[in-house]
Amino acid sequence: MSYPKPDRRSWAEPWKIKMVEPIRMTKLAEREKFIAEAGYNTFLLRSEDVYIDLLTDSGTNAMSDRQWAGMMLGDEAYAGSANFYNLWEAVTKYYGYKYLVPTHQGRAAEHILSQIMIHPGDIIPGNMYFTTTRLHQELAGGAFVDVIIDEAHDPANPHPFKGNVDLAKLQRVIHEAGPGKIPYVCIAGTVNMAGGQPQSMANMRAVRELCRQHKIHVVLDATRAVENAYFIQQREPGYANKKLAEILKEYCSLTDTCTMSAKKDALVNIGGWLATNDQGLYEEARNLVVVYEGLHTYGGLAGRDMEAMARGIAESVEDDHMRARIGQVQYLGEHLIDWGIPIVKPIGGHAVFLDAKAFYPQIPQAQFPAEALTCNLYIDSGVRTMERGVVSAGRDAKTGEEHFPKLELVRITIPRRVYTQAHMDVVAESVLEVYEHREQARGLKMVYEPKYLRFFQARFEPA
Ligand SMILES: *Cc1c(COP(=O)(O)O)cnc(C)c1O
Repeated sequence: MSYPKPDRRSWAEPWKIKMVEPIRMTKLAEREKFIAEAGYNTFLLRSEDVYIDLLTDSGTNAMSDRQWAGMMLGDEAYAGSANFYNLWEAVTKYYGYKYLVPTHQGRAAEHILSQIMIHPGDIIPGNMYFTTTRLHQELAGGAFVDVIIDEAHDPANPHPFKGNVDLAKLQRVIHEAGPGKIPYVCIAGTVNMAGGQPQSMANMRAVRELCRQHKIHVVLDATRAVENAYFIQQREPGYANKKLAEILKEYCSLTDTCTMSAKKDALVNIGGWLATNDQGLYEEARNLVVVYEGLHTYGGLAGRDMEAMARGIAESVEDDHMRARIGQVQYLGEHLIDWGIPIVKPIGGHAVFLDAKAFYPQIPQAQFPAEALTCNLYIDSGVRTMERGVVSAGRDAKTGEEHFPKLELVRITIPRRVYTQAHMDVVAESVLEVYEHREQARGLKMVYEPKYLRFFQARFEPA
């Protein structure tokens, strides 16, 4: 035949389904009751009462048959488990760092890193904050300063690399604080709170160069660095013909250390690590992990968890895997754009973010428009999403004033390899239904506020 034959027709998944988990549809009246009982906070719903669970992509991944097979090969020795060495090999091979300390999840690595590197009064510049990252910096006596480009704060701006650092802002912070007050610059790829937006390789290289001049350490939050590598491959000149694995390694090579939540990119349900090229930091981390997590050859994990992680890392850097993973997110986002629903653009890597300020202009930010929107979506269809706005932003550590972020978003987060295209259609149709009734929506008032990371456990009532 003479017509041009493509290798593939779409982003369709490079796997088939071998085992299924039944889920239950609830009735409208039940959902109204469940969300009221949950204090109008989707984190407090029972998973059994949720139909399609898009709360988070964290630890909600479906593992492959190879990963499950690996779990049977768990070497549950207290010290020196074979699975630890497999994990070490995978991290050093694909991420390229020299040394590894496993932890039970990402925030444990952040805790250890912050305790070692941050002294009271220090400043940690970053490309927007992440909740647990910033909290551990603050608990160690440091203060986070945002140096992301202004475009990242504008949900409608189509900049292809909204995760980029504004080098002039970073330069200014270094100049004002003095390099001695900056233990490291903390870079996330992709940037969760900006809508899953990537950083370019060129920008990372420029950050690296600026930090080198001032002898400042660069830490990567590598949680979604493989997704970031996919955007570099798709959007950055010179990378279209490179494999994701190659791009990931180049990206990490521009940093000294990484913290990782393997519950995201690495396709497992639990796990994380701290990896570094700095021998001194490695030795301190290896000492401290024993205090908080466990011996440095298991870091709070079972041997089988480390094996699943080692295998998940190798699967996560496969080009076909990532094309399908991000393809599904784009599929959902493009439906919503076609219907004129306000979402953060460009569509992110792990989630579609609804712009709640544009969705509900009648609800003042002090009445939590994004939180209200998560409730209305749940009531409509049993789809669970999460707030990423004023509730997540919390209060200023010093003044106690609420942060009112420019971005007031609802995150529709897609777990990896879990839901089908038909599920995405249900989600899109539910968002449309809620959008069509947007004028009737009312805000919320907070009636219980926890001290730390309040979005997890806060309770609300209709305002
Ligand atoms: C989830 C996440 C973390 C924290 O990781 P946990 O495994 O949840 O402790 C850190 N940074 C980013 C960008 C994340 O998305």
